[in-house]
Amino acid sequence: SSSGSGSSNIRRKPVIILVVGMAGSGKTTLMHRLVCHTHLKDIRGYVMNLDPAVMTLPYAANIDVRDTVKYKEVMKQFNLGPNGGILTSLNLFATKFDEVISVIEKRADQLDYVLVDTPGQIEIFTWSASGAIITEAFASTFPTVVAYVVDTPRSEDPTTFMSNMLYACSILYKTRLPLILTFNKVDVAAHQFALEWMEDFEAFQTAASSDQSYTSTLTQSLSLVLDEFYNNLKSVGVSAVSGVGMEAFFNAVETSAEEYMETY
Ligand code: GDP
Ligand code: MG
Repeated sequence: SSSGSGSSNIRRKPVIILVVGMAGSGKTTLMHRLVCHTHLKDIRGYVMNLDPAVMTLPYAANIDVRDTVKYKEVMKQFNLGPNGGILTSLNLFATKFDEVISVIEKRADQLDYVLVDTPGQIEIFTWSASGAIITEAFASTFPTVVAYVVDTPRSEDPTTFMSNMLYACSILYKTRLPLILTFNKVDVAAHQFALEWMEDFEAFQTAASSDQSYTSTLTQSLSLVLDEFYNNLKSVGVSAVSGVGMEAFFNAVETSAEEYMETY
């Protein structure tokens, strides 16, 4: 009923949740928590790992890039360092991504969500050809949303907060997909400060003005840019460790998926 004119080729389900964020923001731990939540609530999930270099996963993946490409082998074979190895591994996997899409299409009737973990280093997914190919392959077939994971305790520093928001902003405009700001680790620091800064840029400026490394005019201009960005997204506070915020997260995913269906 809410599907727009361009959505005729896109099924309603499953919804793809791309979990992206800075290294150490807690993507993999959050994946584990989300998987637990789906089991608990009888939500039908499918789980995918796209990090070629992760040593051990806390969750069981239905599709794991490591089953197809061995990143250490790729490093040796192409004489690459770790980052080149990860990037090349993901490129190799991306060339076969149509197979991944057909696997999901075959199971589509039995699935509510596909949860996708991405490499630790954010730019390997967000600023690479393979990341773009994979995102596009998902988004042209299923409703797709981006969960941008933020390390909340680290973002209490205004400069870090702004860098993180600018990065999220760049992902929103690059992918043009609904984005959920997912403030993680709220067991350590509540995300209330972030909501206040997003609602009232003067509150942010006051906090930032104590930081000598930012000129007030630059901060002011950037806050205004971000103000428009904030209007275009949802934010939730979660803890991958305590499990707080899971309902809010999935509610935001549902609203974002509706938004996707209306837009595409
Ligand atoms: P990734 O690189 O984004 O996949 O991050 P990881 O999931 O590997 O987590 C990085 C670190 O943050 C690990 O030490 C986790 O235990 C920790 N971490 C992740 N989520 C939370 C959380 O919600 N609360 C706390 N306190 N620590 C977390
Ligand atoms: Mg990880």
